[in-house]
Amino acid sequence: MTIFSKILAGQIPCHKLYEDAHVLAFLDIKPIARGHTLLIPKEPAVTLDALSDDAAAAIGRALPKVCRAVMKATGATSYNVLQNNGAAAHQAVFHVHFHIIPVLEGRQLGIAWDAAASDQALDTVLARQIATLLG
Ligand code: 5GP
Repeated sequence: MTIFSKILAGQIPCHKLYEDAHVLAFLDIKPIARGHTLLIPKEPAVTLDALSDDAAAAIGRALPKVCRAVMKATGATSYNVLQNNGAAAHQAVFHVHFHIIPVLEGRQLGIAWDAAASDQALDTVLARQIATLLG
């Protein structure tokens, strides 16, 4: 059972921002910036790819609404939505969650974007492979 399952079960308190039948939003206990929010599905999927279509749709419906309220309440005009999957991708709580992180007073998510030029030949093969998997 993850810490988020315990929050969902009411066993651990949180600063609740929004709840419907499928999702819960609450303030992160160690915020990067004021208003740093977590939006989670009630379905206990570990990573985003494991989420059911219904839970994914509910997250998709709630996410912009929660972003709007967090931005309005904090006064932020820029923000990041971050979603980590797997320990190597900095996931620490193994229950799907979306971070909504306002950019405020010089506090914001740091991103090391180590991009490289793409290999067009390899990308042609890879794109075909992924597209085939997507049907
Ligand atoms: P991850 O690295 O898995 O993407 O982020 C997990 C987030 O959950 C972290 O930002 C961490 O501060 C937050 N978190 C962990 N435990 C609790 C808790 O008990 N309550 C709340 N509100 N947030 C938590």
